[in-house]
Amino acid sequence: MALRTAEQYRQGLRDGRVVYYRGEQVEDVTTHEQLSIGVAHTSLDYDLAEDEDHRELFSWADDDGTLHSRYYKHPASAQDLLNRREMIETSTRLSSSTVLLIKEIGTDALFALDLVSRVIDEKAGTDYHERVSAFHQHARDHDLALAVAQTDVKGDRALLPSEQEHPDYYVRIVEERADGIVVRGCKAHTTNTPMVDEIIVLPTRAIGEQDAAYAVAFAIPVNTPGVKLLASPFGASERRSEFHYPVSSKHHLVDTLTIFDDVFIPKERVFLQGEWQAAGFLANTFVEFHRYTAVSYKPPLCDLFIGASALLADYNGIPKVSHVREKLTKLITWTETVRGLGRAAAHDCRITDFGLAVPNVLLTNLAKHAFADSYHEAIQWVQDIAGGLVVTGPDELDMANDELRPYIDQYLGGAGVDADTRLRAMNLVRDLTASEFGGYNQLLAIHAEGSLEAQKITIFRDYDLERCKDLAADAMGVSR
Ligand SMILES: Cc1cc2nc3c(=O)[nH]c(=O)nc-3n(C[C@H](O)[C@H](O)[C@H](O)COP(=O)(O)OP(=O)(O)OC[C@H]3O[C@@H](n4cnc5c(N)ncnc54)[C@H](O)[C@@H]3O)c2cc1C
Repeated sequence: MALRTAEQYRQGLRDGRVVYYRGEQVEDVTTHEQLSIGVAHTSLDYDLAEDEDHRELFSWADDDGTLHSRYYKHPASAQDLLNRREMIETSTRLSSSTVLLIKEIGTDALFALDLVSRVIDEKAGTDYHERVSAFHQHARDHDLALAVAQTDVKGDRALLPSEQEHPDYYVRIVEERADGIVVRGCKAHTTNTPMVDEIIVLPTRAIGEQDAAYAVAFAIPVNTPGVKLLASPFGASERRSEFHYPVSSKHHLVDTLTIFDDVFIPKERVFLQGEWQAAGFLANTFVEFHRYTAVSYKPPLCDLFIGASALLADYNGIPKVSHVREKLTKLITWTETVRGLGRAAAHDCRITDFGLAVPNVLLTNLAKHAFADSYHEAIQWVQDIAGGLVVTGPDELDMANDELRPYIDQYLGGAGVDADTRLRAMNLVRDLTASEFGGYNQLLAIHAEGSLEAQKITIFRDYDLERCKDLAADAMGVSR
């Protein structure tokens, strides 16, 4: 099997996995009232690889001519990274700005593991690279959907794992056996875990020798005994109407608390077991690939902000007003800065000795920081142009009431536009910026793929300050 259909993908999720939603165990995520919306959303990945218009971008033929999902292709050039970027931006745009994230993040982790396992093997004489390659091939050949659980619950942020009040604030190895390891702990915010076949677990941070038990990475099927998922219901109370919530009624992500209750991991699926010196290197390498994914999927949401604001400027009769043009210009500048820096990160990639293309770290972080740092301000520009109806408009049941509808039609029209169209534009802005889903997007902007401070640290660390000091010294007429 190389490419699966969407139906085969959904069938694979009916495997006895343990998922809880609002205190109750879910029998079947594909038919569950709320989680099935997420499954329908992620199914698009499989539809696109089948679709005539998108097959070329979303699939790739190996040397034998077998078709695979393009996500599983190791990027070997700037063009491979650009193709990957285009694939992520396209699927996100087709999902009205919500990333699918069932192969993007998993392959980010596979590329990082590919790179880091070679380094560990060389130093420690281990065979992790062989295991990583075998898992990569397995995931590719079975066209698997993958989640990545990296972020630990972390307890007191100022303390190392072994200094915490109890030892399980970071996932750790509790038993080492000849045939594998047993792990315990909990990861937070794991996106789409109920909708994937397997979970890749990575360490969150750099650690010292005393924390070697926390240096652990592995991959396991979601239905492995002891894995328990507590799905966040965030935003579910609102997802009832396409009129009020045109995006989130059809597209949303589901994040979980991912609990490992003494889970056995077979040896061939363990990719890091106690090599504490490599924990930070693996964590950071994953993040660098994943931030490139992030800056590939952000622009479609920015595009929707521009489009909705421009339409509402027209509908409100203010398209030529100077402050409106200024706000639209700022939205365009923000969007194209993120998009342009993302593309530049591919063009300026680094090719490793063994041929893996790594996106430019500085440019990737600049793009992610530019997006996240101005996100809340961008919402202010959008909401300012739209006006208060975003949160005060009538209900769709009022629209369906024959007595009330004439009032709505009479009073809520705009500049050359009927009330229904104007309200739909307001509702789009509400869904994206002023609903529970809008709040989710705000948190996603700030924290997902690492908080703002993490990007600043990377930008400072990766910048060539010495080059600028030399230039300044030259200009001063002194030598260094
Ligand atoms: C919608 C969403 C989806 C996500 N999806 C995934 C996923 O699929 N997989 C995954 O693994 N993770 C995922 N994440 C997790 C994301 O990477 C984290 O939210 C992010 O790294 C911040 O961690 P935190 O939420 O624990 O916040 P904290 O780390 O608690 O951050 C809060 C604040 O504390 C600061 N801080 C924390 N520790 C320190 C310290 N030691 N010194 C100084 N300042 C500190 C931070 O800079 C920040 O300002 C997701 C997050 C969100 C919001």
